[in-house]
Amino acid sequence: MLFTLDTPVLELKGIGIKRSEMLSQVRIHNLEDLLKYKPVRYEDRTRFEKIAHLKADQQVLIEGIVSVTGRYTTPMKRMRIFEMVVEDESGSLPVKFFNQPYLDRLFKQNQTVILYGIPRLDDYSDGIALHNPEYEILSSQSDKKLHTGRVVPIYKKVGRLTSRMLRQAIFQSLEGLPHKLKDPLPESVVAKYQFPDRRKAFQEIHFSTSTGTRNPTDFQALQLHQTVFHQRFIFEEFFLFQLGFQLSREDRKRVSKHRRIEMKDRVRETIDSMLPFSLTSAQERVLEEMEADLCSPHLMNRLLQGDVGSGKTVVALQAMILVFENGYQAVLMAPTEILAQQHFQTIRRLLEGTRYRVAFLTGSVKGKNRATVLQGMRTGEVDLVVGTHALIEKEVEFRELALVVIDEQHRFGVLQRSRLMGKGAQPETLVMTATPIPRSLALTLYGDLDVSILDELPPGRPSVKTILRGETNRQEVYATVHAQLREGRQAFVVYPLVEKSEKIDLKDATKMTRHWQQQVGPEFTVRLIHGRLGADEKSALMEQFRDGKVHVLVSTTVIEVGIDVANAAMMVVEHPERFGLSQLHQLRGRIGRGKHPGLCVLLVGASVTPQGVQRLDMMCETRDGFRIAEKDLEIRGPGEFVGTRQSGLPEFFFGDIVRHREQLERAREEATEYLRESLESSPDSGFELFSDFFAWWKEHFKLYHVG
Ligand code: ADP
Ligand code: MG
Repeated sequence: MLFTLDTPVLELKGIGIKRSEMLSQVRIHNLEDLLKYKPVRYEDRTRFEKIAHLKADQQVLIEGIVSVTGRYTTPMKRMRIFEMVVEDESGSLPVKFFNQPYLDRLFKQNQTVILYGIPRLDDYSDGIALHNPEYEILSSQSDKKLHTGRVVPIYKKVGRLTSRMLRQAIFQSLEGLPHKLKDPLPESVVAKYQFPDRRKAFQEIHFSTSTGTRNPTDFQALQLHQTVFHQRFIFEEFFLFQLGFQLSREDRKRVSKHRRIEMKDRVRETIDSMLPFSLTSAQERVLEEMEADLCSPHLMNRLLQGDVGSGKTVVALQAMILVFENGYQAVLMAPTEILAQQHFQTIRRLLEGTRYRVAFLTGSVKGKNRATVLQGMRTGEVDLVVGTHALIEKEVEFRELALVVIDEQHRFGVLQRSRLMGKGAQPETLVMTATPIPRSLALTLYGDLDVSILDELPPGRPSVKTILRGETNRQEVYATVHAQLREGRQAFVVYPLVEKSEKIDLKDATKMTRHWQQQVGPEFTVRLIHGRLGADEKSALMEQFRDGKVHVLVSTTVIEVGIDVANAAMMVVEHPERFGLSQLHQLRGRIGRGKHPGLCVLLVGASVTPQGVQRLDMMCETRDGFRIAEKDLEIRGPGEFVGTRQSGLPEFFFGDIVRHREQLERAREEATEYLRESLESSPDSGFELFSDFFAWWKEHFKLYHVG
C-alpha cells in the first residue's frame, strides 16, 4: 500500500513540479481529485483491423511497427508533411501528418504503434493512407495492457499532460491504493441504492471491464456515463454538496437571534387593512411563511420567486410592516435607479395615511436631501429606505436594521450583498427574483435558502398574446403599432444590445428610432432610452413615457426588469433570437399590466435558424415562466443562464445539473434525512461530527453565503 486518497499527485512517477502545477489548475491536487477526473470518452481497443483488410472512409484501429519515417514539404502548397509507413503481418500502410514536422522526433523505426483514424483514398500514395490519426506509441510490455487490448479511457488534456500521461498516472494511483477506500456516503445510502464499492467504481470508470462494442448497449452506457459506476459518483457528489447546504442552514439555526418580533392583533389588523385588494392565496401562503420565519428564534433566509407581476413587492411590504411594528427598520435594494424609484413610489402610495416613514436613497440623492435621509435612518425616524447599491456606502447607518430585502438579487455582486447584510446585526434576509429559476438551479445556487414561490397571478390581469413575425411582415408590424397608438395605447420597441459592441448596436437603435418616427408620423413621439444615458435622463424619459408624452419607447434591455406602465399594451422585439427565453419572458412582462390586453411581436431577423424559430415558438405557446426557464436552462446551460460573471455556480466533476436533475433532487432528500437522523441520535455533539466536512465543503465549493 503505497498511497492513500490524500496522497499528493506529485508523488506519482512521471508527475514532477511542473505537471503537478498544471493539474492544480484544474483543481487536481491529490489522488482522489485525479481519480475524479473522468474520461471524456472510451475507445474500444480490443478489436484491431489487419492492414490488408482496410477500406477507405471507415474508422479503424490498427497496431503495427514503424518501418520508414521521413519529412518533406509539398512543392505546390508548401505544406509540411511527416510521413511514415506502418506494417503488420498482413501488409503496410502510409500514414501522414500535416504540419506537424516535430513528429519525426517522436516516431522511430521499429516502434510498435497504435493508430486510430479513417483511411482515405490518397492520390499520392497509390491507394489508401491514414491522415492525422490519433496515435499511441507502445514502449513496454506493461503499456500493452494499459493503452491497448482493452476499452481505453480517453481524457481531455490538462496543460501539456496528454491523455496518455493521465491514463498512466491514474493507473499508477489505482495500483498503489489499498483495497478498501473510505467512502463518504453513509452505509445506509449505499445499501439503499445498491451502489457499487467505491474502489471498484473508480476502477471501472477508468479501466472498464466492459467488453466494448461487442456489447453495444453496455458500451453505449459507458460512453454516456450512465453505468452504475458513474451513477455512484454523480450521486456522491450531489449528496456531499447538498449535505453542506443543510449544514449551513443548521449552522444558522444554532445562532438564536437577539431580537424579538411578535405578531400582535394590532399588527395583523394593520397588515390586513393596508391594501386596496385582497391577497391571492399564493400571497397568503408566502406571507405566512415569512411571518413564521420572522417570529421564530432563527434568522430568516428566504428566496422569493415569482413571475413578473405576481405581487412579490406587495407581500414583502407586508412582512416589513411586521418589522416596523416591532420597532425595527427595513431596507429594500433594487438593481437600478429606475426600479428603485418605482418601488419607492409604489410603496409610498401604499403607505400613505399610515405612520410609517419611507425614504429614498440612490447616488443621485445629494446635498441636504441626502443628509436628511441619512439622519433619519440613523435616528430611526425612517422605517424603510428604498434605494440602489448606494445603500452599501460607508456613511449609511441604521438605528436598528432588522430586514434586508433585495430585489432581482442575481444582478448584484456577491460583495455588495454581504456588505448590505453587514449594516444590521444579523438582519433577516429576503431575496426576490422575477426571473424564475428552474428548481435544479435553485437547489444549486440557493440550496441553503428557504424558498417561497408565488405561482399565481392576481385576478383581472389582461391576456398577453405573443406572435412571431419575419422581415416580410415588417410593414404589417408598423401598421399594427400605428393602429394601437391611434387607439391611445403606447408601445415598447426593444433592440438587443450587448455591452461589448455597444457602440455599433447603439447606432442601430438610434437609426431605428428615427425610422420608427417616420413610420408612425409626427403626431406621435418616439424616443430612445439606453444604458449609457445618465440616471437623470433615464428617469426623465421614463416619466414622460409614464405620463403618455412619449408614445413609443425604443430601448435596449434597460427596461428588462420592473418597469410598470399600465397603458403600454404593445411590444415589438427585434432580433428576439438573440435573447435568452427567460429574458424575453421578462421583457414581455412589461405589457398587459393595465386594463388592455397586450400584444408582443417577436420580429425575427432574416438569418434566424430553424431551431431558433422553434425556441421562439415556445414563447408563443406558454406564459409559464418556470417552464420557459427550464427550457432556457436546457438550451443555454447553467453558466449562460445565470450569466457568467460571479455566477456562484459550483463546478462538478461528474454531475450535470441539467441532465442529472433527478439525481440532484434525490441526493438532496437523502442528505437532509441523513443529517436529521445524525443530529437526532446525538443532539449535543452531532453538529461537531461534521465540522471537518463542513470546513472542506466551504473551501471546496467556495460558496458565498447570504446571511
Ligand atoms: P412583482 O413585484 O411580483 O412584479 P408587485 O408586487 O409589484 O409584483 O405587484 C404588481 C402589481 O399588482 C402592483 O400594481 C400591485 O399593486 C398589484 N397587485 C399585487 N397583488 C395583488 C392582488 N392580490 N390583487 C390585485 N392586485 C395586486
Ligand atoms: Mg416588482
